[in-house]
Parts: sequence; C-alpha cells; structure tokens
Amino acid sequence: MVTQQDIRAVASSVVSFHCSACGKCCNSPPQLTLAELFRHQDRFVGALGMRRMQPAGNAHAADAAALASRLGHALPGGDYLMLAVQGLDYPSLNRCPALGDDNGCTIHTSRPSTCALVPLDAWTPDALQSVLLEKRRAGHGYIGADCIAAGPREGYRELVRGGRVTDPAYADALNRRRGNEAQEKAVWGTQLFRWLLPELLAAPGGIAAVPTADTRTLSLVPALALLAGASPRSRERCLDFAEAQLTLIRHNLAGALARRQAADRPVTAELRAMEAALQRFAGHLRSAAAGASSDPQRAAQVEAYLAS
Ligand code: SF4
Ligand code: SF4
Repeated sequence: MVTQQDIRAVASSVVSFHCSACGKCCNSPPQLTLAELFRHQDRFVGALGMRRMQPAGNAHAADAAALASRLGHALPGGDYLMLAVQGLDYPSLNRCPALGDDNGCTIHTSRPSTCALVPLDAWTPDALQSVLLEKRRAGHGYIGADCIAAGPREGYRELVRGGRVTDPAYADALNRRRGNEAQEKAVWGTQLFRWLLPELLAAPGGIAAVPTADTRTLSLVPALALLAGASPRSRERCLDFAEAQLTLIRHNLAGALARRQAADRPVTAELRAMEAALQRFAGHLRSAAAGASSDPQRAAQVEAYLAS
C-alpha cells in the first residue's frame, strides 16, 4: 500500500533512468497482448494471467480506481481483476526466451508493448510512478543494474518529476500499453470475465483467494474460444496458433526433462495441463463445421485484432 508519507517523500522528486541493456530485468517472459502472442507464437508459451488489484486505501485511490476500471474488471467488494496474457517458462532458466546470448532482446523491434515501458507500470497512476520507481530501484528485478537513480544523474534521462512522466517516449509507451490493455478488455476480456466471475465466486475462498501479489496462470483456451468463434478465418488462425503452441510446449517439456530441476516441476504440471486443453481445443476446431459468421462486425473486429 502506498501511504501519504510515501507520496510526500517523492512529491517533488526527480527519478532518472539509463538502460545499459544488461538484460537483468528480462529474467522471465513478459506480459503480452493476445495479438502480440499470436505474432510470437513460436517463442512464448502464453497463459491467461489473473491478479486481484486493490486501488482502495492507497493514496491517489481515485486515480488508481479510474485506471483499474479502464484496464480491468470490477469485482464485488471494490477490487478489480487484471486479466492479461502472461508468458510462461521454467524458473530454473531465469530468462526470457527472447533474451539473446549478448543479453540484448532478439525481438527488440517487435517486443511486447509492456517491455517498452520498463521500468514504469501501466496500472500505476502517473502520480505514483515515482513511488514505484523508488521501490524498484532497490528491488529484486533491478538490483545491481543501477539503471534507476534518485535525482538527476549525468548520462541518465529524466523519467519522472513529482507526479508526471516527463520523458515523452516513456509517456507514449505508457499510453500505448494502457491503450493495448483497454483493447484486450474490449476484444476478449469483458466476455471472458462474465464467464469467469461465477466460477471465482463459487471457488473455495471466493474472490479473496485470487492472489494480489503475484499472478495466477490458467490455460488460454477460453480466450481463444472467444476469438475462434468470431469467424471462419479467426478459427483457422486460432487453430494455427494452437498447433504452434503445442509444438513449443512439447519442446519446452523435453528441455525440462533433460535438465531435471526440482524447481521446474510445478511449471511442468501446468504445461501438461495446458497441452491437454490445447489439444482438446484444436481437435474441436478441426472437427466442428466452419459455418458463417453470425456477427459481421464482431468478425471484422477480431480479424483486424489478430492481424494487428
Ligand atoms: S535491469 Fe535496467 S539496465 Fe538492465 S536491461 Fe533492465 S532496465 Fe536495462
Ligand atoms: S521480450 Fe525482450 S525486452 Fe521483453 S522481457 Fe523478453 S528479452 Fe526482455
């Protein structure tokens, strides 16, 4: 929780940033949009990520709630559900699958929009980005990289000043990512949330059991089913995607079998469950009659989204 004391501490502060491309923060696959995952279907295994966001009680709660309402899904009780595609890989590898041997990003020109705004965060109101950066400065992902500096520093760019993101490129990246997340919500998130909410309410512990500090990952199949149902062309594209993901999952499972790391076992179990779900989904797509699209507007929306 961000307190008024935190806010006072950074209200007029400058935070500077310089990325030396050390690769330290690329220690796991990123969040992506579903369209980005389709583009990188041979590189990232995608899961549906779910996390409970709690804007109430923080300083700038109204800003945080407005942002959460734009990007996420309102839960009973005042929290919001983040539904996002999360890249999934083995913890023992401790690296993003797109990280090159030279620690550079091998897909830099088409990297996910979430990578372009590092070290900022789309769900954090602009007024609180300085607080977040101050925490990240000494946090696990960045420690030792010295890329975030309190105050001005030679060779670093000013990223935020008080409650504003002052670097135009980063302000753009932040807006782009937020726009992407709002689009995810419009194309598949809202419908998926309608399906999920009764299950979340009925599950042991109810909504309170959805994690707030980390992301729970599930199979992407329900989101894919929403896209596949839009038109025959979307269905074909989803089938191609499912087959590519099955190939990648099997490749990753074989790698884990060779490495034999105890820490990887939970991800192996998860990948096996995802493999089974994708296999059923692909089988269904292959056998179901193609049919015509019943909603041309929806078909056009999904086809444009998948091609984006
Ligand atoms: S840890 Fe910092 S310096 Fe290293 S790649 Fe990430 S942002 Fe750049
Ligand atoms: S996609 Fe590129 S920038 Fe993003 S986490 Fe992976 S290596 Fe880093």
